[in-house]
Amino acid sequence: VVPIGNHIDRWVQSKPDEHAVSYGTTDYTWAQFRTRIRANAAAQVADGIRTGDRIAFLDKNNLACLETTLAASLTGAANAVINFRLSPDEVAYIVNDARARIVIVGSEFADLIAGLRDELPTVERVIVTGGVDDDYEKWIAGASDADFEPVRFDPDASFLQLYTSGTTGHPKGAMLTHRSLGAHNAAAAVGFGFTPSSVNMVAMPLFHVGGSSWSLAGISVGAQTIVVRDVDPSAVLDEIVERKVTHAFFVPAVFGFFLEEPRVADRDYSAVRCLGYGGSPMPLPTMRACLETWPDADFYQVYGMTEMSGVFSVLGPEDHRDLAHPERLVSAGRPLPGVTVTVVDRDGNALAPGSIGEFWVQSKQHMLGYWGNPEATSKTLVGDDWLRTGDAGLLDDDGYLYISDRVKDMIISGGENIYPAEVERVIIENPAVADVAVIGVPDEKWGETVKAVVVLADDASTTDVELIAYCRERLAGYKTPKSVEFLSALPRNSTGKILKRELRKPYWEGRT
Ligand code: AMP
Ligand code: MG
Repeated sequence: VVPIGNHIDRWVQSKPDEHAVSYGTTDYTWAQFRTRIRANAAAQVADGIRTGDRIAFLDKNNLACLETTLAASLTGAANAVINFRLSPDEVAYIVNDARARIVIVGSEFADLIAGLRDELPTVERVIVTGGVDDDYEKWIAGASDADFEPVRFDPDASFLQLYTSGTTGHPKGAMLTHRSLGAHNAAAAVGFGFTPSSVNMVAMPLFHVGGSSWSLAGISVGAQTIVVRDVDPSAVLDEIVERKVTHAFFVPAVFGFFLEEPRVADRDYSAVRCLGYGGSPMPLPTMRACLETWPDADFYQVYGMTEMSGVFSVLGPEDHRDLAHPERLVSAGRPLPGVTVTVVDRDGNALAPGSIGEFWVQSKQHMLGYWGNPEATSKTLVGDDWLRTGDAGLLDDDGYLYISDRVKDMIISGGENIYPAEVERVIIENPAVADVAVIGVPDEKWGETVKAVVVLADDASTTDVELIAYCRERLAGYKTPKSVEFLSALPRNSTGKILKRELRKPYWEGRT
């Protein structure tokens, strides 16, 4: 295991004056980037930050976030990066969970933190980044990196703490370490072909592995990193061209926005090598349009999770080119080097290809654990480097993973397992339906029964009786919803996942 700081030292030695990072109109060379990271580390130490301490970071994508993470790798602290779309209560929960001693906050969010100040007992100092005063720049300028000494290297020290989206309860801080991120970076470098001449665009949020781990993977191999603060589609496309970006990663919805740009195809994308997308598969028509718009790019679908330090399975260019196997586009691909995926039943026994079960993953990429939550950790990490993903699905004979659902969302009715995604896929085909979520609700007789929560399409009308009849024609009786609720919109989190917990809550309140 190599400390991430050593990688940076190596690139400072071999190309000190080449571009390392860009943020808006600001560029830093490798030598400057290293100096800024060490100055941040020295400032942390001057403020009393010691091994095991947490710093919380709240802003849109900002180079200061990356610098704080890398500085923490030198001081033994960890950067707990917070989703800037959270409500004040949710932000307070995470700052307090992390027991953060310092909060670094973007000027846009400074009032939010100021308003919470009394509720954050562990916070000793708030540093504002951006804006006119820019405390952050003063903070690092005030510390001398000259006689800064990194702490003794511990491969299992966590320097990045990312909170999982929390669709099943309070968010939990996944502790990512030199070992876990190092394994991820090595696999990602091979998987996506990062090289020292790559130009890597970081448009996914840094509070998520899709932003933070993706950027560290590029930095560790000496790629230039472009940090994007606001994902304005036409500005991002322009920046891809101007900066000669070779690698970029977006969620499928952002590719949809790109394709709506009237002049999307008029740009020169000849530098682009690798376009990644993930979190979910891409609809086939969108994928076809992407392949036409970026004919020379390699497309990769990425299956990853916070607890695995990022990506661990990839559907590669060979499965996108010519769309020879269009059915594979809904697959989450094949495991990266160093990763083994097994499908297991509820008792943890391995299942044969083709059977649905939970994905268990073995690799060195797994988190150290959930911060301050050994109970949840022991449910997720099951020894010998195995991690339970909580995702259900199957492996086919060619080694491709197909995700069918979250295990936790699985409905058990009369002893039958029901995967909501299967029911949702049927209902969404109904022209009257714009959006749907399927949940389990308590039932005297069956334990649980299936309920569909439906958003109607504009001007459409239908009834619960009609929808249930529609499903009964297409699904086994036990999978057919017994009731339907109509809503004007489904609750979603900032990454677009439906908050089934919220939908279930009114039905399960007061029960166990
Ligand atoms: P998070 O830790 O917030 O990134 O969420 C990880 C979860 O997102 C995984 O456990 C999956 O349920 C889901 N996910 C990630 N990538 C994909 C993908 N390519 N296809 C389908 N689901 C995905
Ligand atoms: Mg998660």
